Amino acid sequence: MTRGGGVTVLVDPARGVGFREVAAASLEDVDAAISRAGAAFAGWRQVGAGDRARLLRRFAAVVDAHLDELAVLEVRNSGHTVGNARWEAGNVRDVLDYYAGAPERLSGRQIPVPGGLDVTFHEPLGVVGVIVPWNFPMPIAAWGFAPALAAGNTVVLKPAELTPLTALRLAELAREAGLPDGVFTVVPGEGSVVGERFVTHPAVRKICFTGSTEVGTRIMAGCAAQVKRLTLELGGKSANIVFADADLERAAATAPGAVFDNAGQDCCARSRILVQRSVYDRFLELLEPAVRAVRVEDPSRDTAEMGPLISAAQRDRVAGYLDGAKIAFTGSCPDGPGFWHAPTVLLADSPADRHWREEIFGPVVSVLPFDDEADAIRLANDTEYGLSGSIWTRDVGRALRLARAVDTGNLSVNSHSSVRYWTPFGGMKRSGLGRELGPDALLSFTDVKNVFIATEE
Ligand code: NAD
Repeated sequence: MTRGGGVTVLVDPARGVGFREVAAASLEDVDAAISRAGAAFAGWRQVGAGDRARLLRRFAAVVDAHLDELAVLEVRNSGHTVGNARWEAGNVRDVLDYYAGAPERLSGRQIPVPGGLDVTFHEPLGVVGVIVPWNFPMPIAAWGFAPALAAGNTVVLKPAELTPLTALRLAELAREAGLPDGVFTVVPGEGSVVGERFVTHPAVRKICFTGSTEVGTRIMAGCAAQVKRLTLELGGKSANIVFADADLERAAATAPGAVFDNAGQDCCARSRILVQRSVYDRFLELLEPAVRAVRVEDPSRDTAEMGPLISAAQRDRVAGYLDGAKIAFTGSCPDGPGFWHAPTVLLADSPADRHWREEIFGPVVSVLPFDDEADAIRLANDTEYGLSGSIWTRDVGRALRLARAVDTGNLSVNSHSSVRYWTPFGGMKRSGLGRELGPDALLSFTDVKNVFIATEE
């Protein structure tokens, strides 16, 4: 029996109306795409390093020439603010440019051995399957496909059911830039059909998965059956730790952006604010006007700071976390059609509260006081996740102690920045496995081969 196929109706999150249909791949379509990618691998790995680099730079240039078009697509399909969507399209260009510098630098080693020459090679793996969630369709796709292609692999990429448009357009732009047929293929469709087939198909040699911890755990089990390489970027419940000696005005002014950006649908959202008890009331006083000032409006407006949630289901899921919770204050959002939810600040009674423990993936933040450094570390680490986090203090020693003690992959001190394409990104504990971006990600798309050549007659 044929699985998959059919069409997905895409809905504009800001208006709540369907605007386009996209064909979902059947199992046969997926197998055909993987088979084309497998056939293209033989040629792509042979493309000289300089030529592969040039093709990727050209791909980056074509993306650059279409930034506005890609941004408009994302605003419509995902409800991202246009400012964010422009940044996301620019990020695809930058990630491509960055890894375009990799092919000529992918050198192995020469290791001294008696009786010959020992050298290592970083061999590409083959076909890489990239599985992308709906919250950042463009950047997350590029973080997988750019280094994979640079290392000499071919790529099949599955966008999320709800947000396939920019990925489909990027595949067209890749062809326009001159990437050969089958080197980069986007296969839209259901996770249980397309995604699962990437995992079970023996020709796919690595899975790069970003999404929920639940699905990631299943994918890891599936990959184990074939000892398939795997990178997982999963959920988060990151802490924003504010000490009494911090610049409280700045900490409070920036806290909304650190959690409400992309309507909170961000794996790095600092959705747990820990505030030292002596400044807890003052911090909340400062936070309230900052939250009320967040501009939640039509995401296509240049002034929009937050747009709608991705779907009605997601909005309802998020709203469910408010039941029985203590609401400190909220911002505002438009009435009427569209999947809107106002920025909301909840007061946690204890770290056992459901809204404190679970990833909400919406514009909701929980606040809890702590007593001292040890208490802050204990509370920050009291979670199954470990993706990002922030530390606000003027004491450098404390900042470093905290940075080492908090079990999370990406931390910022007196700032909320965590993602730069040239620094590593990824999670500890159940937030993931492996690292993307930065100087080392490339090697995770290769295997080391050791070759000994005898020189003795
Ligand atoms: P999801 O796990 O439901 O889906 C992610 C992708 O996996 C989608 O493309 C989906 O179709 C596919 N999929 C679903 N079932 C599958 C299966 N059985 N086999 C293979 N693929 C399957 O996640 P989502 O709801 O789209 O995204 C939200 C989650 O992603 C959040 O938990 C968030 O924290 C996480 N996320 C993590 C990062 C990170 O870098 N750590 C970044 C963004 C999002």
